[in-house]
Amino acid sequence: MLTVEEARERILARFSRLNAEDVPLPAAVGRVLAMDAVAGESLPRFTNSAMDGYAVRSEDARGASAEAPRHLRLAGEVPAGRVYEGTVEPGEAVRILTGAPLPDGADAVLQQELTETGAGWVRLLAEAPAGNNLRYPGEDVREGDVLVPAGAEVGPAEIALLASAGIHPVRVTRRPRVAILSTGDELAPLGETPRPGQIRESNGPYLIAAVARAGAEPVPLGIARDRAEELRAKLEQAREADLILTSGGVSVGDYDLVKQILTEQGDITFWRVRMRPGKPVAFGTLSGTPLLGLPGNPVSAAVTFELFGRPAIRTMLGCRQTERPVVEVVLDGQNIARGDRRHFVRARLDSRNGTLVAMPTGDQGSHIISSLRGATALLVILEGEGQVCAGDHVPALLLNDALPWGME
Ligand code: AMP
Ligand code: MG
Repeated sequence: MLTVEEARERILARFSRLNAEDVPLPAAVGRVLAMDAVAGESLPRFTNSAMDGYAVRSEDARGASAEAPRHLRLAGEVPAGRVYEGTVEPGEAVRILTGAPLPDGADAVLQQELTETGAGWVRLLAEAPAGNNLRYPGEDVREGDVLVPAGAEVGPAEIALLASAGIHPVRVTRRPRVAILSTGDELAPLGETPRPGQIRESNGPYLIAAVARAGAEPVPLGIARDRAEELRAKLEQAREADLILTSGGVSVGDYDLVKQILTEQGDITFWRVRMRPGKPVAFGTLSGTPLLGLPGNPVSAAVTFELFGRPAIRTMLGCRQTERPVVEVVLDGQNIARGDRRHFVRARLDSRNGTLVAMPTGDQGSHIISSLRGATALLVILEGEGQVCAGDHVPALLLNDALPWGME
Protein backbone atom coordinates (compact mmCIF):
# COMPACT_ATOMS: atom_id res chain seq x y z
CA MET A 1 0.00 0.00 0.00
CA LEU A 2 1.33 3.45 -0.90
CA THR A 3 2.24 6.10 1.64
CA VAL A 4 0.55 9.50 1.49
CA GLU A 5 3.68 11.01 -0.14
CA GLU A 6 3.92 8.27 -2.76
CA ALA A 7 0.25 8.63 -3.63
CA ARG A 8 0.50 12.41 -3.87
CA GLU A 9 3.60 12.22 -6.03
CA ARG A 10 1.87 9.86 -8.46
CA ILE A 11 -1.21 12.06 -8.63
CA LEU A 12 0.63 15.34 -9.11
CA ALA A 13 2.78 13.84 -11.88
CA ARG A 14 -0.41 13.72 -13.97
CA PHE A 15 -1.14 17.45 -13.76
CA SER A 16 0.39 20.61 -15.12
CA ARG A 17 -0.59 24.24 -15.44
CA LEU A 18 -3.57 25.00 -17.68
CA ASN A 19 -3.78 27.77 -20.28
CA ALA A 20 -4.14 31.42 -19.42
CA GLU A 21 -6.95 33.88 -20.05
CA ASP A 22 -7.42 37.61 -19.56
CA VAL A 23 -9.97 38.84 -17.04
CA PRO A 24 -10.89 42.37 -15.91
CA LEU A 25 -8.86 43.18 -12.81
CA PRO A 26 -11.79 43.39 -10.36
CA ALA A 27 -12.88 39.89 -11.43
CA ALA A 28 -9.42 38.46 -10.74
CA VAL A 29 -9.95 38.06 -6.99
CA GLY A 30 -9.31 34.43 -6.06
CA ARG A 31 -7.62 33.72 -9.41
CA VAL A 32 -3.96 32.84 -9.91
CA LEU A 33 -1.61 34.97 -12.03
CA ALA A 34 -0.36 33.16 -15.13
CA MET A 35 2.64 35.45 -15.60
CA ASP A 36 4.64 37.92 -13.57
CA ALA A 37 2.88 41.28 -13.39
CA VAL A 38 5.63 43.80 -14.09
CA ALA A 39 5.45 47.53 -13.36
CA GLY A 40 5.51 49.57 -16.58
CA GLU A 41 6.17 52.75 -14.60
CA SER A 42 7.36 53.78 -11.17
CA LEU A 43 5.09 54.48 -8.22
CA PRO A 44 4.55 57.20 -7.15
CA ARG A 45 4.49 58.41 -10.75
CA PHE A 46 5.89 61.87 -9.88
CA THR A 47 7.25 63.77 -6.88
CA ASN A 48 4.26 64.90 -4.86
CA SER A 49 3.27 66.33 -1.52
CA ALA A 50 2.48 64.10 1.46
CA MET A 51 0.67 66.96 3.24
CA ASP A 52 -1.60 69.91 2.75
CA GLY A 53 0.69 72.92 3.09
CA TYR A 54 3.05 75.16 1.14
CA ALA A 55 5.63 74.27 -1.48
CA VAL A 56 8.76 76.32 -0.86
CA ARG A 57 12.46 76.55 -1.61
CA SER A 58 14.17 75.09 1.44
CA GLU A 59 16.68 77.92 1.61
CA ASP A 60 13.75 80.36 2.07
CA ALA A 61 12.71 78.44 5.17
CA ARG A 62 16.16 78.14 6.72
CA GLY A 63 16.15 79.36 10.32
CA ALA A 64 12.34 79.84 10.39
CA SER A 65 10.63 79.41 13.77
CA ALA A 66 7.56 80.65 15.65
CA GLU A 67 9.72 83.44 17.13
CA ALA A 68 11.36 84.28 13.82
CA PRO A 69 8.88 83.40 11.05
CA ARG A 70 9.78 83.76 7.37
CA HIS A 71 7.38 85.81 5.33
CA LEU A 72 6.79 84.64 1.73
CA ARG A 73 4.62 85.83 -1.13
CA LEU A 74 1.79 83.39 -1.94
CA ALA A 75 2.12 82.87 -5.67
CA GLY A 76 -0.65 80.37 -6.39
CA GLU A 77 -2.18 77.01 -5.61
CA VAL A 78 -1.83 73.44 -6.87
CA PRO A 79 -4.53 70.93 -5.90
CA ALA A 80 -4.22 67.15 -6.49
CA GLY A 81 -4.77 66.30 -10.13
CA ARG A 82 -3.32 69.60 -11.46
CA VAL A 83 0.13 70.82 -12.43
CA TYR A 84 1.49 74.23 -11.35
CA GLU A 85 2.39 76.04 -14.54
CA GLY A 86 5.03 78.40 -13.19
CA THR A 87 8.18 78.11 -11.09
CA VAL A 88 8.45 78.86 -7.40
CA GLU A 89 10.85 81.81 -7.31
CA PRO A 90 12.97 82.90 -4.30
CA GLY A 91 10.71 84.53 -1.71
CA GLU A 92 7.60 82.70 -2.99
CA ALA A 93 5.41 79.84 -1.75
CA VAL A 94 2.65 77.90 -3.52
CA ARG A 95 -0.30 76.42 -1.69
CA ILE A 96 -0.16 72.62 -2.28
CA LEU A 97 -2.57 69.84 -1.42
CA THR A 98 -1.83 66.18 -0.63
CA GLY A 99 -0.94 64.22 -3.76
CA ALA A 100 -0.34 67.30 -5.93
CA PRO A 101 2.89 67.37 -7.98
CA LEU A 102 5.69 69.48 -6.53
CA PRO A 103 6.01 72.70 -8.58
CA ASP A 104 9.32 73.48 -10.30
CA GLY A 105 11.65 75.52 -8.16
CA ALA A 106 10.34 74.13 -4.86
CA ASP A 107 12.16 71.32 -3.04
CA ALA A 108 10.12 71.03 0.19
CA VAL A 109 6.64 71.31 1.63
CA LEU A 110 5.83 72.83 5.00
CA GLN A 111 2.59 71.48 6.42
CA GLN A 112 -0.10 74.08 6.98
CA GLU A 113 -0.14 73.48 10.75
CA LEU A 114 3.30 75.15 10.87
CA THR A 115 2.23 78.25 8.94
CA GLU A 116 0.11 81.36 9.22
CA THR A 117 -1.52 82.81 6.20
CA GLY A 118 -3.33 85.89 4.95
CA ALA A 119 -4.29 87.49 1.64
CA GLY A 120 -1.36 86.96 -0.71
CA TRP A 121 1.17 85.90 1.96
CA VAL A 122 2.20 82.99 4.14
CA ARG A 123 4.44 82.91 7.19
CA LEU A 124 6.60 79.85 7.84
CA LEU A 125 6.88 79.03 11.55
CA ALA A 126 9.40 76.22 11.06
CA GLU A 127 12.17 75.11 8.75
CA ALA A 128 11.39 72.95 5.71
CA PRO A 129 14.57 71.08 4.82
CA ALA A 130 14.95 69.81 1.23
CA GLY A 131 12.69 66.77 0.71
CA ASN A 132 10.42 67.69 3.62
CA ASN A 133 6.97 66.03 3.21
CA LEU A 134 7.75 64.83 -0.30
CA ARG A 135 6.98 61.45 -1.87
CA TYR A 136 9.37 60.46 -4.66
CA PRO A 137 8.90 58.27 -7.75
CA GLY A 138 9.97 54.66 -7.11
CA GLU A 139 9.53 54.82 -3.33
CA ASP A 140 6.76 52.25 -3.64
CA VAL A 141 7.57 50.43 -6.88
CA ARG A 142 10.25 50.93 -9.52
CA GLU A 143 9.62 50.52 -13.23
CA GLY A 144 10.43 46.91 -14.13
CA ASP A 145 9.76 45.54 -10.63
CA VAL A 146 7.71 42.33 -10.39
CA LEU A 147 4.57 43.54 -8.63
CA VAL A 148 3.00 40.12 -8.19
CA PRO A 149 4.73 36.93 -9.37
CA ALA A 150 3.20 34.24 -11.58
CA GLY A 151 1.48 31.62 -9.45
CA ALA A 152 0.39 34.04 -6.73
CA GLU A 153 -3.24 34.22 -5.80
CA VAL A 154 -4.93 37.57 -6.29
CA GLY A 155 -6.49 39.09 -3.17
CA PRO A 156 -7.57 42.64 -2.39
CA ALA A 157 -3.98 43.83 -1.75
CA GLU A 158 -2.82 42.46 -5.12
CA ILE A 159 -5.78 44.17 -6.79
CA ALA A 160 -4.80 47.51 -5.24
CA LEU A 161 -1.19 47.12 -6.38
CA LEU A 162 -2.10 46.01 -9.91
CA ALA A 163 -4.70 48.78 -10.25
CA SER A 164 -2.19 51.41 -9.14
CA ALA A 165 0.19 50.19 -11.85
CA GLY A 166 -2.57 50.12 -14.49
CA ILE A 167 -2.49 46.35 -14.99
CA HIS A 168 -5.93 45.60 -16.38
CA PRO A 169 -7.10 43.22 -17.73
CA VAL A 170 -4.89 40.70 -16.00
CA ARG A 171 -3.65 37.32 -17.25
CA VAL A 172 -4.72 34.44 -15.00
CA THR A 173 -4.77 30.67 -15.32
CA ARG A 174 -8.01 29.20 -16.58
CA ARG A 175 -10.09 27.67 -13.81
CA PRO A 176 -9.89 23.86 -13.87
CA ARG A 177 -13.26 22.19 -14.51
CA VAL A 178 -13.84 19.57 -11.87
CA ALA A 179 -16.67 17.08 -12.37
CA ILE A 180 -18.21 15.81 -9.14
CA LEU A 181 -20.16 12.57 -8.95
CA SER A 182 -21.59 10.87 -5.86
CA THR A 183 -22.27 7.15 -6.01
CA GLY A 184 -24.57 4.89 -4.04
CA ASP A 185 -28.11 3.47 -4.05
CA GLU A 186 -28.58 4.78 -0.53
CA LEU A 187 -28.17 8.44 -1.43
CA ALA A 188 -31.03 10.94 -1.53
CA PRO A 189 -30.15 14.26 -3.19
CA LEU A 190 -30.52 17.61 -1.47
CA GLY A 191 -34.17 18.63 -1.40
CA GLU A 192 -35.59 15.10 -1.52
CA THR A 193 -36.90 13.12 1.41
CA PRO A 194 -34.85 9.96 1.96
CA ARG A 195 -36.78 6.69 1.59
CA PRO A 196 -36.41 4.12 4.37
CA GLY A 197 -32.78 3.02 4.49
CA GLN A 198 -31.58 6.01 2.50
CA ILE A 199 -29.38 8.85 3.73
CA ARG A 200 -29.12 12.45 2.64
CA GLU A 201 -26.01 12.78 0.55
CA SER A 202 -23.45 15.34 1.65
CA ASN A 203 -20.29 14.60 -0.34
CA GLY A 204 -21.62 16.27 -3.48
CA PRO A 205 -22.42 19.56 -1.74
CA TYR A 206 -19.17 19.36 0.25
CA LEU A 207 -17.05 18.84 -2.85
CA ILE A 208 -18.81 21.57 -4.83
CA ALA A 209 -17.91 23.98 -2.01
CA ALA A 210 -14.37 22.70 -1.50
CA VAL A 211 -13.59 22.68 -5.23
CA ALA A 212 -14.79 26.27 -5.60
CA ARG A 213 -12.71 27.30 -2.56
CA ALA A 214 -9.66 25.65 -4.09
CA GLY A 215 -10.04 27.95 -7.11
CA ALA A 216 -11.66 25.56 -9.59
CA GLU A 217 -15.03 25.44 -11.31
CA PRO A 218 -17.23 22.64 -9.94
CA VAL A 219 -19.30 20.71 -12.49
CA PRO A 220 -21.90 18.77 -10.46
CA LEU A 221 -22.98 15.49 -12.04
CA GLY A 222 -25.38 14.42 -9.29
CA ILE A 223 -25.72 10.86 -8.06
CA ALA A 224 -25.11 7.56 -9.85
CA ARG A 225 -26.79 4.42 -8.55
CA ASP A 226 -24.63 1.38 -7.95
CA ARG A 227 -25.00 0.04 -11.49
CA ALA A 228 -22.13 0.00 -13.94
CA GLU A 229 -24.25 1.36 -16.86
CA GLU A 230 -25.45 4.32 -14.83
CA LEU A 231 -21.98 5.15 -13.61
CA ARG A 232 -20.59 4.87 -17.14
CA ALA A 233 -23.33 7.13 -18.51
CA LYS A 234 -22.70 9.79 -15.84
CA LEU A 235 -18.96 9.64 -16.35
CA GLU A 236 -19.52 10.16 -20.10
CA GLN A 237 -20.72 13.65 -19.18
CA ALA A 238 -17.35 14.38 -17.61
CA ARG A 239 -15.33 14.16 -20.83
CA GLU A 240 -14.61 17.89 -20.91
CA ALA A 241 -13.45 17.97 -17.29
CA ASP A 242 -9.85 18.49 -16.22
CA LEU A 243 -10.43 16.25 -13.21
CA ILE A 244 -13.21 13.90 -12.16
CA LEU A 245 -13.97 13.47 -8.47
CA THR A 246 -16.18 10.59 -7.45
CA SER A 247 -17.13 9.63 -3.93
CA GLY A 248 -18.07 6.17 -2.72
CA GLY A 249 -17.73 2.93 -4.58
CA VAL A 250 -14.01 2.44 -4.09
CA SER A 251 -13.81 0.02 -1.18
CA VAL A 252 -13.96 -3.75 -1.43
CA GLY A 253 -17.73 -4.23 -1.16
CA ASP A 254 -19.80 -5.87 -3.91
CA TYR A 255 -21.11 -2.55 -5.12
CA ASP A 256 -17.82 -0.76 -5.42
CA LEU A 257 -17.90 0.06 -9.07
CA VAL A 258 -15.62 3.04 -9.55
CA LYS A 259 -12.58 0.81 -9.31
CA GLN A 260 -14.12 -1.68 -11.74
CA ILE A 261 -14.85 0.98 -14.36
CA LEU A 262 -11.37 2.47 -14.04
CA THR A 263 -9.88 -0.99 -14.53
CA GLU A 264 -12.08 -1.75 -17.56
CA GLN A 265 -12.12 1.60 -19.32
CA GLY A 266 -9.02 3.39 -18.21
CA ASP A 267 -6.05 2.71 -16.07
CA ILE A 268 -5.76 2.59 -12.33
CA THR A 269 -2.65 3.95 -10.65
CA PHE A 270 -3.61 2.95 -7.10
CA TRP A 271 -6.71 2.29 -5.05
CA ARG A 272 -5.50 2.31 -1.48
CA VAL A 273 -3.30 4.61 0.58
CA ARG A 274 -1.84 3.99 4.02
CA MET A 275 -3.84 6.66 5.81
CA ARG A 276 -6.72 7.14 8.18
CA PRO A 277 -9.35 8.22 7.44
CA GLY A 278 -9.40 7.62 3.72
CA LYS A 279 -7.66 4.33 3.01
CA PRO A 280 -9.87 3.39 0.04
CA VAL A 281 -8.92 6.21 -2.29
CA ALA A 282 -8.35 5.45 -5.96
CA PHE A 283 -6.58 7.32 -8.73
CA GLY A 284 -6.38 6.64 -12.43
CA THR A 285 -7.49 7.99 -15.77
CA LEU A 286 -10.68 7.46 -17.70
CA SER A 287 -10.41 8.12 -21.45
CA GLY A 288 -7.45 10.36 -20.66
CA THR A 289 -9.15 12.37 -17.89
CA PRO A 290 -7.66 12.00 -14.41
CA LEU A 291 -10.13 10.52 -11.93
CA LEU A 292 -9.72 10.70 -8.18
CA GLY A 293 -12.06 8.22 -6.53
CA LEU A 294 -12.66 9.46 -2.98
CA PRO A 295 -14.08 7.22 -0.26
CA GLY A 296 -17.79 7.46 0.55
CA ASN A 297 -17.52 8.27 4.24
CA PRO A 298 -17.90 12.03 4.47
CA VAL A 299 -14.82 12.73 6.58
CA SER A 300 -12.69 10.39 4.47
CA ALA A 301 -13.89 12.19 1.35
CA ALA A 302 -13.02 15.55 2.91
CA VAL A 303 -9.57 14.53 4.14
CA THR A 304 -8.58 12.82 0.87
CA PHE A 305 -9.82 15.83 -1.09
CA GLU A 306 -7.64 18.09 1.07
CA LEU A 307 -4.57 15.87 0.69
CA PHE A 308 -4.87 14.90 -2.97
CA GLY A 309 -7.66 16.79 -4.76
CA ARG A 310 -6.79 20.30 -3.69
CA PRO A 311 -3.07 19.99 -4.55
CA ALA A 312 -4.05 18.62 -7.99
CA ILE A 313 -6.27 21.66 -8.57
CA ARG A 314 -3.56 24.02 -7.32
CA THR A 315 -1.04 22.38 -9.66
CA MET A 316 -3.40 22.97 -12.62
CA LEU A 317 -3.71 26.59 -11.49
CA GLY A 318 0.09 26.94 -11.43
CA CYS A 319 0.02 28.01 -7.78
CA ARG A 320 3.33 28.75 -6.08
CA GLN A 321 1.96 27.01 -3.01
CA THR A 322 0.05 23.87 -3.87
CA GLU A 323 0.06 22.42 -0.36
CA ARG A 324 -1.47 23.71 2.82
CA PRO A 325 1.04 25.07 5.32
CA VAL A 326 2.19 22.71 8.08
CA VAL A 327 3.05 24.18 11.48
CA GLU A 328 4.18 22.62 14.72
CA VAL A 329 1.61 22.63 17.51
CA VAL A 330 1.29 21.25 21.03
CA LEU A 331 -1.30 18.53 21.61
CA ASP A 332 -3.92 19.20 24.25
CA GLY A 333 -6.54 16.65 25.37
CA GLN A 334 -6.26 12.88 25.23
CA ASN A 335 -3.24 10.90 24.07
CA ILE A 336 -3.45 9.57 20.52
CA ALA A 337 -2.17 6.07 19.70
CA ARG A 338 -0.02 5.69 16.61
CA GLY A 339 -0.88 2.97 14.12
CA ASP A 340 0.36 1.48 10.87
CA ARG A 341 -1.49 4.13 8.85
CA ARG A 342 -0.92 7.88 9.02
CA HIS A 343 -3.71 9.37 11.08
CA PHE A 344 -5.16 12.79 10.30
CA VAL A 345 -6.90 14.10 13.40
CA ARG A 346 -9.42 16.93 13.14
CA ALA A 347 -8.43 19.63 15.60
CA ARG A 348 -8.99 23.20 16.49
CA LEU A 349 -5.99 25.41 17.06
CA ASP A 350 -5.71 28.19 19.56
CA SER A 351 -2.92 30.49 20.57
CA ARG A 352 -2.08 30.16 24.26
CA ASN A 353 0.75 32.25 25.72
CA GLY A 354 2.41 32.42 22.35
CA THR A 355 2.13 28.70 21.57
CA LEU A 356 -0.24 27.06 19.12
CA VAL A 357 -2.23 24.44 20.97
CA ALA A 358 -4.36 21.79 19.23
CA MET A 359 -7.53 20.33 20.69
CA PRO A 360 -9.14 17.43 18.78
CA THR A 361 -12.70 18.39 17.84
CA GLY A 362 -14.33 15.16 19.02
CA ASP A 363 -15.08 11.63 17.85
CA GLN A 364 -12.72 10.82 15.00
CA GLY A 365 -14.97 8.30 13.22
CA SER A 366 -15.03 8.78 9.46
CA HIS A 367 -18.82 9.34 9.54
CA ILE A 368 -18.67 12.08 12.22
CA ILE A 369 -19.23 15.20 10.16
CA SER A 370 -19.82 17.35 13.23
CA SER A 371 -16.14 17.07 14.21
CA LEU A 372 -15.11 18.25 10.76
CA ARG A 373 -16.88 21.48 11.45
CA GLY A 374 -14.81 23.68 13.70
CA ALA A 375 -11.60 21.86 12.77
CA THR A 376 -9.02 24.38 11.63
CA ALA A 377 -6.24 21.84 11.19
CA LEU A 378 -5.49 18.18 10.67
CA LEU A 379 -2.91 16.87 13.12
CA VAL A 380 -0.52 14.54 11.36
CA ILE A 381 0.06 11.49 13.54
CA LEU A 382 2.86 9.60 11.83
CA GLU A 383 2.84 5.83 11.43
CA GLY A 384 4.64 3.99 14.22
CA GLU A 385 4.52 2.55 17.72
CA GLY A 386 3.38 4.07 20.99
CA GLN A 387 1.34 7.19 21.38
CA VAL A 388 1.44 10.93 21.06
CA CYS A 389 0.81 12.43 24.50
CA ALA A 390 -0.70 15.67 25.62
CA GLY A 391 2.10 18.25 25.63
CA ASP A 392 3.93 16.62 22.69
CA HIS A 393 4.73 18.61 19.58
CA VAL A 394 2.95 17.45 16.42
CA PRO A 395 2.78 18.76 12.87
CA ALA A 396 -0.57 20.28 11.91
CA LEU A 397 -1.81 20.87 8.39
CA LEU A 398 -3.68 24.15 8.39
CA LEU A 399 -7.07 23.95 6.71
CA ASN A 400 -7.03 27.69 6.23
CA ASP A 401 -3.96 29.32 4.69
CA ALA A 402 -4.18 32.56 6.58
CA LEU A 403 -5.48 32.05 10.09
CA PRO A 404 -4.27 29.14 12.17
CA TRP A 405 -7.24 29.26 14.48
CA GLY A 406 -10.96 29.71 14.07
CA MET A 407 -13.48 31.71 15.99
CA GLU A 408 -16.55 30.01 17.27
P1 AMP B 1 -18.83 3.40 0.07
O1 AMP B 1 -17.40 3.85 -0.08
O2 AMP B 1 -19.61 3.62 -1.17
O3 AMP B 1 -18.89 1.99 0.55
O4 AMP B 1 -19.48 4.30 1.18
C1 AMP B 1 -18.99 4.32 2.51
C2 AMP B 1 -19.94 5.04 3.43
O5 AMP B 1 -20.07 6.39 3.02
C3 AMP B 1 -21.35 4.50 3.44
O6 AMP B 1 -21.84 4.59 4.77
C4 AMP B 1 -22.10 5.43 2.54
O7 AMP B 1 -23.47 5.49 2.81
C5 AMP B 1 -21.45 6.74 2.83
N1 AMP B 1 -21.56 7.63 1.68
C6 AMP B 1 -21.24 7.32 0.41
N2 AMP B 1 -21.47 8.37 -0.40
C7 AMP B 1 -21.94 9.36 0.38
C8 AMP B 1 -22.36 10.70 0.10
N3 AMP B 1 -22.34 11.21 -1.13
N4 AMP B 1 -22.80 11.46 1.14
C9 AMP B 1 -22.82 10.94 2.39
N5 AMP B 1 -22.42 9.71 2.70
C10 AMP B 1 -22.00 8.91 1.71
MG1 MG C 1 -21.31 3.05 -1.96
